[in-house]
Amino acid sequence: MNTQDKPLLAGIEAGGTKFVLAVGHSPTEVIARHTIPTRSPETTLVEAGDWFSQHGKLGGLGIASFGPIELDRSNPRWGCITDTPKASWEGCDIAGYFADRLNVPVGFDTDVNGAAMAEYYFGAGKGASSLAYVTVGTGIGGGLVIDGRPVHGAAHPEMGHIFPRRHPSDREFAGICPRHGDCLEGLASGPAIKARWSASLSDLPAEHEAHEIIARYLAQLCHSLVAMSAAEVIVLGGGVLKTGGLLDLVKKQASELNAGYFPGQSKHQIVLPGLGDDAGITGALLLAAAD
Ligand code: ZN
Repeated sequence: MNTQDKPLLAGIEAGGTKFVLAVGHSPTEVIARHTIPTRSPETTLVEAGDWFSQHGKLGGLGIASFGPIELDRSNPRWGCITDTPKASWEGCDIAGYFADRLNVPVGFDTDVNGAAMAEYYFGAGKGASSLAYVTVGTGIGGGLVIDGRPVHGAAHPEMGHIFPRRHPSDREFAGICPRHGDCLEGLASGPAIKARWSASLSDLPAEHEAHEIIARYLAQLCHSLVAMSAAEVIVLGGGVLKTGGLLDLVKKQASELNAGYFPGQSKHQIVLPGLGDDAGITGALLLAAAD
């Protein structure tokens, strides 16, 4: 049986503002995709289910979801979104809904673990031993893949909530994380940038100190990732990284922070997503294939 005869794989990149849906013969052979806005769970899940139902019997579904989510298969709440600030989604059994509706096996992980897997196998990390994927947008989140598997502990990593050392020119701002104030997300996410400077980073002139300050915070996450996991490739994605010149500033600052210390430092790379904006949906399809 060749790949064209097998049931299609389905994927959902479930985000806070939109759901990207796709079906394909493999994670990199998408034959149809569709985007719907994220509204209430009832409306959004039904609309997504309706779209998948047009594609015949599916072989499996992967969901790469915003979080926090429950990843422990032995927990009755596996496949649910847990204590999200998006109130109507709290407790939503997103994996269970699609398992029942489509009658398929469901793979489930965070959006960033999905994107990390996609970049590891098909994108910027091809051939690397390990890869971290970090998205910097409305929030900051990251996933880590080592030897082909996403890292799960008691739950999934929440690397956007580390506490960076404050930049000397950025001492006054309290930060916007409702739990931690000036954690990384509270200081360097898109909304944190807007709260400080009333503009997105890409709208601020290149000489504005915001670029240096935000790069410094993101460089500290890169430094911590390498220090703790020796991650070979760090992929920085999300809307804020579309700011021209930001990646180079982060790389320069990470190099300064490291001060030539890390073993194997010539192997460490900080790069943009090799799959561009498709890392998330490719990851979702990979989760379908892996289940
Ligand atoms: Zn936080």
